[in-house]
Amino acid sequence: MVEEKVTACCPRCGTVIRWEENPYRPFCSQRCKLIDLGKWIDEEYRLAGEEPPTEEEGEAEERR
Ligand SMILES: [Zn+2]
Repeated sequence: MVEEKVTACCPRCGTVIRWEENPYRPFCSQRCKLIDLGKWIDEEYRLAGEEPPTEEEGEAEERR
């Protein structure tokens, strides 16, 4: 019938992905998957560009 569940939106960046051929679902790519995992294990999966500077701000203030 109609392709209903073939595509989905990446919960990370909102990119429309093909559900069937995507090994990283529900994410669009390994990058987004790792970024999402990085929420709680960002110590190991540090990806530049997407990490919020929370703790770094505290350190920066202390240095002042
Ligand atoms: Zn994505």
